[in-house]
Parts: sequence; C-alpha cells; structure tokens
Amino acid sequence: MLRPFELVEPTSLSETFGCLEHHGEEAKVYAGGSELLVAMRLGLLHSKMLVNIKHVPGMDQLELENGSLRVGSLVTHRRVETSALVRERFPLIARMESKVANVRVRNVGTLGGNLAFAEPHSDPATLFLVYGAEVVLQSSRGQRRIPLSEFFVGPYETVMEPAEILVEIRIPSFPQGMKGAYIRWGVLERPALNVAVGARLAEDRLLEAVRVAVGCVGPIPIRLQQLEESLRGMELSAAYQHIGSSGTAVRQWLAPVSDIFGSDDYKVYMVKTLLQRALRQAVEGDDHG
Ligand SMILES: Cc1cc2nc3c(=O)[nH]c(=O)nc-3n(C[C@H](O)[C@H](O)[C@H](O)COP(=O)(O)OP(=O)(O)OC[C@H]3O[C@@H](n4cnc5c(N)ncnc54)[C@H](O)[C@@H]3O)c2cc1C
Repeated sequence: MLRPFELVEPTSLSETFGCLEHHGEEAKVYAGGSELLVAMRLGLLHSKMLVNIKHVPGMDQLELENGSLRVGSLVTHRRVETSALVRERFPLIARMESKVANVRVRNVGTLGGNLAFAEPHSDPATLFLVYGAEVVLQSSRGQRRIPLSEFFVGPYETVMEPAEILVEIRIPSFPQGMKGAYIRWGVLERPALNVAVGARLAEDRLLEAVRVAVGCVGPIPIRLQQLEESLRGMELSAAYQHIGSSGTAVRQWLAPVSDIFGSDDYKVYMVKTLLQRALRQAVEGDDHG
C-alpha cells in the first residue's frame, strides 16, 4: 500500500534544485514513476515528497548533434523505439528499446529514470556502453558530463550527488566502419543477461576494433576492456575460439553470483555463448548506427 506523500511539480530546473536541496533525503525525483511507485507500493522505499520533473522544460529533446544522439532524460522508451530519426541512424537502439518491458512501461518509463535507478537488469545501459555514451548531470552548482562507464557504482547506486539530476544522455555514432549487435536473454520481462558488441573488420578481415559490454551478471553493466584488447588483430574464427576459452577471465571480471536468474556457471557459459553470437551478428549484420 502507498503511504501518503506530498507531490510537488516544479516548472524549472532552478525550482527543482531548490526543492531537492531544501528537503534533502525526504524528497525524491519522480519522472515516469514506473520504478519509483512500484518500489513505494511494495514498501521497499518511502519518500515524504516526490518532485515531479515532467513539467520542467529542456529535458525532452531527441535530436542529432554532430553525429551524436542527444536524448533528454524525460524521453520515454517508446519515443526512442518509434522515432524515425533513431530508426534510421541508430536502428540497433530502436530495436533494443522495442524489447524493454512491455508497451505500458515503455510509454511512461524514461531513459533518465532507467539509468538513474541503476537497476542491474537494464537493457539501455549495456548497449549504450559500446557506443561510449555519456550522461549529463546538473545541479545548482552547474553541469558535468560523465562517461556512462563511470556512472554506475553498484546496484541502485550511481555517482550522482544529492540534489543532482540526470538531464541528458549523449550517444555518439559508432566510428566509421564499425557495426554492432545487442542480445538480451531471459524468460522474465527484464533481461537475465545481456551483451553488446561493436566490431570493425580491416580489409584483410582481421578484427581492427572491438567493443564488448555485458550487463545483468555483475553488480553493474561493464565494458570488458581486457577482452577487447585481446581480440584486436584476430581472425574471426580465432576470436570465437578465444571467447569460448575465456571462462576463467569472464568469471573474474564479472564475479557472477547464483540467483533466480541462474547459477554462476550458467551465467559464465551464457556470456561466452552470447558474446560469440553477438560478434558474429555484428560483423555479418548491417547495424552501422
Ligand atoms: C514491469 C517492469 C518491467 C521492466 N522491464 C524492463 C526491461 O525489460 N528492461 C529495462 O531496461 N528496464 C525495464 N524496466 C525498468 C524501466 O525501464 C524503468 O522502470 C523506467 O525506464 C524508469 O523510468 P521512470 O521515468 O519510470 O523512472 P521513475 O520510476 O520515475 O524513477 C526511477 C528512479 O530514478 C530516479 N530518477 C528518475 N529520473 C531521474 C532523473 N532525470 N535524474 C535523477 N534521478 C532520476 C527516481 O528518483 C527513482 O529513484 C521495467 C520496469 C517494470 C516496472
């Protein structure tokens, strides 16, 4: 049952920061409410005040700027999924978004809320890592840009300071010639495991550049930079083999635990399998965006 709370509806960023600073821990940002209200209804979280940021202007842009996609934090999953711009320039992102939750959640849930909540089973977080995305955070002290790879600290924990909010996500295009793939795995609505790969083949068909991200397995989604480095310069068949034999390292990098999504052994096995599959899909596919 929902305990009573006060709802405030600022219409500017300065009003939002004033409210968050004045009420401290008692106030929580409210965007689509799809996570927040569920957590409050289940009694997992309580806040005396919700600060609804949906009427604050300047956080709903979805546009291209110098090849990067600028996504305001209030943009919903559904808007990204159905955007003609995203479908044309970042088709992999539009397809990933079409798999998030269900259409009801996608209609209200925002990208900013998804990343700010830092739920380890996030689709966008894992895919955005291989694009080298950044988040723009703002408080009354100004703005700062943080690589997404440095944003998550642990489950439900980010580097955001109290009274700081996420205002925008910036997603650069892949470098020239790089193609990508994203695979999510699971039987429940949220992914049990997901992987994203970006890969570019040189003329001699050796892997010239590789980006690899894995989510849901460890406490936060991460880029496997050591694996990326070891794959660089390899032939594809050698790369598939190398991934297949990297179980010990994968276990060390991701520290999987056994839970309702599967045993630690199963997760290591699935990470290797899905990474091989994603690499194949990336180099054979057509997703340049
Ligand atoms: C049934 C269900 C299934 C789901 N399945 C998936 C799935 O398959 N894949 C997936 O990736 N996600 C999934 N989700 C999560 C979903 O993507 C998020 O619920 C949604 O994007 C959160 O956005 P929101 O605007 O509703 O956030 P809210 O619920 O409003 O807020 C979530 C948290 O983020 C904070 N917050 C929100 N916006 C900001 C901001 N701009 N700055 C700072 N803090 C902020 C809030 O204070 C709160 O702590 C699922 C959720 C549900 C309920």
